[in-house]
Amino acid sequence: MTTATSSGGVWSNLALWKKIFIGMVAGILVGAVVGPDAEVLKPIGTLFINAIKMLIVPLVFCSLIVGVTSMEDSRKMGRIGLKSIFIYLATTAVAITIGLGLGTLFAPGAGLNMSASAETAAAAKEAPSLVTTILGLIPKNPIEALASGHILQIIVFALGLGISLNMIGEKAEPAIKVFNSLAEAMYKLTELVMKFAPYGIFALMAWVAGKYGLDLLMPLMTVIAAVYVGCILHVVLVYSGAIALIARLAPVQYLKGIVNAQMMAFSSTSSSGTLPVSIRCARENLGVSKGISSFVLPLGATINMDGTALYQGVAALFVAQAFGIDLTTADYLTIIATATLASVGTAGVPGAGLIMLSLVLTTVGLPMEGLAIIAGIDRILDMARTSVNVSGDLMVSVLVAKSENELDESVYNAAEPVSVDSQDASQAAKA
Ligand code: ASP
Repeated sequence: MTTATSSGGVWSNLALWKKIFIGMVAGILVGAVVGPDAEVLKPIGTLFINAIKMLIVPLVFCSLIVGVTSMEDSRKMGRIGLKSIFIYLATTAVAITIGLGLGTLFAPGAGLNMSASAETAAAAKEAPSLVTTILGLIPKNPIEALASGHILQIIVFALGLGISLNMIGEKAEPAIKVFNSLAEAMYKLTELVMKFAPYGIFALMAWVAGKYGLDLLMPLMTVIAAVYVGCILHVVLVYSGAIALIARLAPVQYLKGIVNAQMMAFSSTSSSGTLPVSIRCARENLGVSKGISSFVLPLGATINMDGTALYQGVAALFVAQAFGIDLTTADYLTIIATATLASVGTAGVPGAGLIMLSLVLTTVGLPMEGLAIIAGIDRILDMARTSVNVSGDLMVSVLVAKSENELDESVYNAAEPVSVDSQDASQAAKA
């Protein structure tokens, strides 16, 4: 059986997300034509899923430590940092709750009746109680947590280690260097594994479409609708609400002032890449001081991922519904906790949220096959969630600047959106 995806030079020059999309469509077509026999392709998909699983533990561990240790810790930085982190985490928890709510309301996976592999079905049955979940946050043996891939415990240990490294000053330097270099290597490895994504996803989609027919298309459209509705609600209700109620400023000015950053985020799907534009929007449209914007926005681009968390809520419910797995209250709380904490370790680059989704699915014992189905439409979802991520960073910069008396309200109230000039665009492309 040959794939429709081997057309030489044109193919190798295509952007990865386009290849993934083509892989998905080709997979669906092959599956629809070939039927259940398409299962012969499944091992190629399993190879890809295993490669993603391989990344999770070292990626989360190293990038969390790098995230924590890269925060500077003078007094003021400490206070502004704490304030920002608190708002970042609180809005992220709200975002994932909205995602779970919309996932329940839209029920995109209902009626799909897919069956998980025996291994994940068994894991799902062993879902622990709430007390066990809370007690289980602290690893008795961190090495065991790493070896068994217990993500929440790994996150807790990494946060503790990162904070302690910050506290020992100079002595921490060699260790921080090692973690920085390992984290870089893990980003690279992720990039390499993702190169294989179009083929893995092609194989998985062929298998899934062969087994379930074309019934899958409508549910995927519903996933997109749920994520987009959620993203709009989050910006309009939560962010505008916070601007109006906490900062006592006109939300319309905030919404007007962030348009350029949102456009850049939507088209680049990278919070880090959008940073130059966000900083400019914060200073020139929203009146946020230089000091606050240059600390709060880069921090946000690394640790604040509300759109990503919201998407994970919808996606996790889609997978649970599609595979007929009932989630307990403890599972919901685990999803909220994992997605919120994991957002600290998500890099602001295209597709990072998909890798983190694998983490959320694993934590509550949902089948990784679900990841492949979502992966095909990931770019479309990434555009919306990255825009929300960036809008959230800007909202927090306004709140923090206002509370520190570093917001120029005459600028905030006067501003019309500045244009995204070519310099911003080329800087964003490089970042
Ligand atoms: N692309 C997102 C960002 O840069 C992260 C994600 O994939 O969710 O903010």
